[in-house]
Amino acid sequence: MKLTQKLLSVLLLSQCALAFAKGNADTIFYGGDIVTMNQAQPKAEAVAIQDGKIIGVGSFTNLKKLQGEGTKLINLNGQTLMPGMVEPHVHIMGTAFSEEIFLNLSNFTMPHDTLDSLVAKLTAYSKNIKDGDWINAFGVDPSRTEPFMSELTADILDKVSTTKPIFILNQSMHIAYVNHKALEVAGLTDSSPDPKGGKFLKDSKGHLTGVVYEAPAFYLFLNKMPLPTQEVIEQAIVKVGQRLVSKGVTTSAEITVGGYLGVDKEYALFNAMTRNGKLPVRVRGYMYSSAYPSTNNSYKPGQGDDSFKLIGVKIVADGSNQGLTGAMTKPYDFPAGTKNTGTLNFTEQELYDLAKPRFDEGWQISVHSNGDKSIEQTLNVFERLVTKPSDVKTRLRIEHFTVPTEAQISRAAKLGVVPGFTIGHTDYWGEAFHDHLLGAERANRIDPSASLIKKGMHFAYHSDSPVSPIHPLKYASEGAARLWQVSPQKVLNANQKVSINNALKAVTIDAAYQLKMDDKVGSIEKGKYADFAIVDKNPMKTDAYKIRDIEVNETWINGRQVFKKN
Ligand SMILES: [Zn+2]
Repeated sequence: MKLTQKLLSVLLLSQCALAFAKGNADTIFYGGDIVTMNQAQPKAEAVAIQDGKIIGVGSFTNLKKLQGEGTKLINLNGQTLMPGMVEPHVHIMGTAFSEEIFLNLSNFTMPHDTLDSLVAKLTAYSKNIKDGDWINAFGVDPSRTEPFMSELTADILDKVSTTKPIFILNQSMHIAYVNHKALEVAGLTDSSPDPKGGKFLKDSKGHLTGVVYEAPAFYLFLNKMPLPTQEVIEQAIVKVGQRLVSKGVTTSAEITVGGYLGVDKEYALFNAMTRNGKLPVRVRGYMYSSAYPSTNNSYKPGQGDDSFKLIGVKIVADGSNQGLTGAMTKPYDFPAGTKNTGTLNFTEQELYDLAKPRFDEGWQISVHSNGDKSIEQTLNVFERLVTKPSDVKTRLRIEHFTVPTEAQISRAAKLGVVPGFTIGHTDYWGEAFHDHLLGAERANRIDPSASLIKKGMHFAYHSDSPVSPIHPLKYASEGAARLWQVSPQKVLNANQKVSINNALKAVTIDAAYQLKMDDKVGSIEKGKYADFAIVDKNPMKTDAYKIRDIEVNETWINGRQVFKKN
């Protein structure tokens, strides 16, 4: 920079500082609906911000008093200003790998894929892969494949290649499919033991089928693959960050820090990328228990700041209901007559032993529990952790909490549990659950938001990306509409629908509550961060099902625009 330029910018800066000091606000938004999600002051005419924080919410006339010479007035021109959305359960690294680095086979539109169409896509992709190199893909989902529940096996994948190892993650991230070459490279035979917390499916003759359950078993393949370069990984994370802000998300979480590259590498990446702006959203980190054993004490809860902070430990206690591995008290309905009740990854004592030392150290405990049997086990453990009133305030998290009973909801309420629903279950998988996998009674219990509201509980809606796509407004829409995607579309238990206000709370202020950030983000309130989404329609005035079609035009974090729609 030339001296004159430097002088000029110093002068300009000091002028700005003067102007702001006189008038206070550096920006005032007005001219559109403002949905604050602050229940004490739900609407406003204008919002004033300064230095990344909100300094006034109220009438335009009043806030004009905060206007100085340098204050920028932004006319919303009929658009709606709302708090930036909070996505409290995302696998940022997992999404980077699954959707950007691996072949992404994820299909959330209709019609569903068939085994033949999947093999064709994989075969086309494999043409660019050298012999001996891995073919990695993500997003296969038997519950959204024709014929229903048909699975890729090693025999089928051998049609794609017998010389290149193949590893494919199921959409749920709890199941993987490999060919015989991959089994060979991983050194696995029919007599290989299952790793702790993982499993290899065998046929009636005891032969490996190529269907693999849970991360501890995936690592046996992942550890044989060469790592992508740092540059490739960073580029993939940049794209996930762009997707987050394009959907109005300003605060998110990495729910399994260490799941792919180990905790040290992932901590360093998130720390650097949230600070240099390559990952523009605020991130709260949860250590993945399988990657961060209790003997490792290199990190402290609360380490970091509001760009990136470690706060929790995440434990995965069961599988996925659409994958028939979520642990249920009664067998699944598919296939007819099955005795399969899914899988608990740990005994109750093992789960307690994983959680207890981390709870005592002050980490927020987050347990993935989908099925009612797993939820029961997790609540038993939580009841052992919570021994004094202050323990209730730690906001124990149950992830997904998909098929709880009313009795379990009552127990969770007493423990101060803050569940997070993958509410896309009601949409993408609603028909599969209701008509095929769980039956009406259990399917109607899925993501029981209204029951939680009756108990006065806080809860969040999340994508669990890459399990379902990042799109908070769609999930608010789903919580309020509960309409499944497959035609003929039906409502999955109208009694569990919630108001649009309550559905929006689950992607803003209550999602912030789950991340222990409700004093900083999640609503438009004086003193909070100036984190906003500017959207084309007011969701409060939109039909519940159509909220998903609302466009995010701009996203602001710390009083700065980080996304603008083209
Ligand atoms: Zn998850």
